Amino acid sequence: LAERLQGTLQKIKGKGKISEADVKEMMKDVRRALIEADVNLKVVKEFVKNVSERAVGQEVMKSLTPGQHVIKIVKDELTELMGGEQSQISFATRPPTVIMMVGLQGAGKTTTTGKLANVLRKKYNKKPLLVAADIYRPAAIKQLETLGKQLSLPVFALGTDVSPVEIVKQALEHAKEEHHDVVMIDTAGRLHIDETLMQELKDIRAIKEPDEIFLVVDAMTGQDAVNVANNFNETLGITGVLLTKLDGDTRGGAALSIRSVTQKPIKFVGMGEKMDALEAFHPERMASRILGMGDMMSLIEKAQANVDEEKAKELEEKFRTQSFTFDDFLEQLSQVKQMGPLDEILKMLPGAGKIKGLENAKVDEKQMDRVEAIIYSMTAKEKTTPEIINGPRKKRIAKGSGTSIQDVNRLLKQFEDMKKMMKQMTNMQQKGKKKMRMP
Ligand code: GDP
Ligand code: MG
Repeated sequence: LAERLQGTLQKIKGKGKISEADVKEMMKDVRRALIEADVNLKVVKEFVKNVSERAVGQEVMKSLTPGQHVIKIVKDELTELMGGEQSQISFATRPPTVIMMVGLQGAGKTTTTGKLANVLRKKYNKKPLLVAADIYRPAAIKQLETLGKQLSLPVFALGTDVSPVEIVKQALEHAKEEHHDVVMIDTAGRLHIDETLMQELKDIRAIKEPDEIFLVVDAMTGQDAVNVANNFNETLGITGVLLTKLDGDTRGGAALSIRSVTQKPIKFVGMGEKMDALEAFHPERMASRILGMGDMMSLIEKAQANVDEEKAKELEEKFRTQSFTFDDFLEQLSQVKQMGPLDEILKMLPGAGKIKGLENAKVDEKQMDRVEAIIYSMTAKEKTTPEIINGPRKKRIAKGSGTSIQDVNRLLKQFEDMKKMMKQMTNMQQKGKKKMRMP
């Protein structure tokens, strides 16, 4: 999406209000990007409609360029659609709390049962009992027992010959006797939804209405995720979704689809196979991920800086051949300035809130203006060969730009330092390349 949006952002840059045509044009790209991230078509349509309604005619916020503003709307809307942060769990007023884990085979039910039990113990001071109700694969019981051992949590299992319903009944008895305040039922899955499985899950649910029924979904599941979620939700009435394998490189469009189709909150996300790899769900992070932006900034930067690939290559060539001039410097500077007020941009950086003192940061834009003025006061020859700038020339430039000789000296020094640094960088790159080629 980054590249796509970029193109459109270019088009609508520099307007004070967002027009209907702008939005229409941009939504084509957004639509395509969401579909590529495996978001369900129906969901995409609704989303595009919402965003369009919200964006058209909006005044562009003072601190943002129109392009930044549109990204903000797209992201806000996406975040909203995924619901708030809801990592709380409903506990029974009279323990034990029953949590039933359901989902397709391989989704991560057993693993997530262990992870969640770990969270319940650590964060909520609970004393969970894990119940092995997947009797169809002997390995499944073993797997849960191994996790239990690893976490020092008890696992209730009766082997593969007792029915899941009977296992759960006895587990609930056992939990009462042993004062477990949470019972987590790890159920069986199938590769595809089938009636026998659904009936079994309904029977388990009927023993004692669970306080939570969590649908475990593999984030890599594409379009099918919606059908799966819908089916489980309609049959069992799930209370929340746990999204696993987000440590992979999936865009995670499934998250958006599931949330929007079932209206059930995504509670936690699995970020790895280890027992501590379970995190609260952050809708905003997910929105960035689905849109394919590492962060908002990189996109804005790219969109605003206008550096198309050709220009970047040109620049690299200039670095390499040491023919970088003050004209190039000026161009770079104006690109940076186009991005908007620098201190505002800094604050938008993800994680910026954590950097101490940044809230009071004030980038000296006057300084940038001074630099520009100095360069404008140079002759063409001086810009390409600054070596010729001697005393009298410095005096002339300072006068022409309304600055001091010290200012001019400082800029010349900065420019020289920059060139040196570039030289080092390109040398290093070339050395690196050579190294890689060696056997
Ligand atoms: P189940 O059939 O639904 O019980 O699925 P399992 O819990 O057995 O998990 C299937 C596979 O997915 C196992 O190899 C897990 O280690 C792996 N897995 C589960 N959750 C995650 C996760 O969040 N990240 C990664 N990378 N792997 C996971
Ligand atoms: Mg399992």
